[in-house]
Amino acid sequence: ATPTSIMVGTGRAAERGVLFRSGAALQALEGVRVVAFDKTGTLTEGRPRLTDLVPAPGFDADAVLALAAAVEARSEHPIARAIVAAAAEKGLSLPPVADVAAVPGHGVTGRAGGRLVAIGAPRHLAGLDLSGLAPEAARLAAQGRSPVYLAVDGVPAALLAVSDPVKAGAAATVRALEDRGLAVALVTGDDRRTAEGVARSLGIATVLAEVLPEGKRDAVRALRDRYGPVAFVGDGINDAPALAEAEVGLAIGTGTDVAVESADVVLMAGDPASVAEALRLSRAVMRNIR
Ligand code: ADP
Ligand code: MG
Repeated sequence: ATPTSIMVGTGRAAERGVLFRSGAALQALEGVRVVAFDKTGTLTEGRPRLTDLVPAPGFDADAVLALAAAVEARSEHPIARAIVAAAAEKGLSLPPVADVAAVPGHGVTGRAGGRLVAIGAPRHLAGLDLSGLAPEAARLAAQGRSPVYLAVDGVPAALLAVSDPVKAGAAATVRALEDRGLAVALVTGDDRRTAEGVARSLGIATVLAEVLPEGKRDAVRALRDRYGPVAFVGDGINDAPALAEAEVGLAIGTGTDVAVESADVVLMAGDPASVAEALRLSRAVMRNIR
């Protein structure tokens, strides 16, 4: 591999909004056999809207939304932003909060208006009996929405769901990668049924769902064992371990700083089509070299 052609290749890629951090990344991308995508913010817009709020018996919809928004105001997660925006649209005033802790891949816990509020995936509310809200969660997930549970003072209080449309270029990108002989996988912390619905709509056959942030690294290893060298595409803090583990980590440029810093390649436009473009450039450069 001549340094000059690699420099020309990375320069050409940069003009197209694909920033290779190193010549080695351009070379490594050519050898990748599987492309794994994070879901939220990578294949989807990452700007979900709150579509559903189902209070448990005895709880008031606006009251639980205000409690949820109060603690979520301290989280940067897309689901958190959707909940905060919904409360703002309704003009709800939020109670004062304290002791808020966001747990990546799980949810958020804190005190709001003197009550203990926890919101997130079922694993974030371990020990609580969520069976009263579970059928509602299954129904909404089947529609591709992401359900989250809210507990107040240790009692299941509501089920909320957000909907996050897939990016315009996502399905075409999956097809383009498969046409080039690559396997494509979806790796997400989201609900399994939600993930399978999104994967189906994009033509992705391999789905690893309900994966914790550290688990995303293991997912990359499992995909490597099955297919060979891995490219991982992600945008979130929770994607950093996978971006670092993959042969080539590609970060969405509009994603979090941690993701961008962990990546070998930055996709400035945030468009999944840039992945196919990056691969095409890497192959073109490596072909010219040999
Ligand atoms: P993804 O892999 O789709 O980016 P994450 O790993 O960020 O998902 O989160 C996985 C799941 O954890 C979410 O689908 C949600 O159920 C829960 N979760 C994480 N953070 C929050 C939050 N701030 N509020 C509510 N739920 C959350
Ligand atoms: Mg994400």
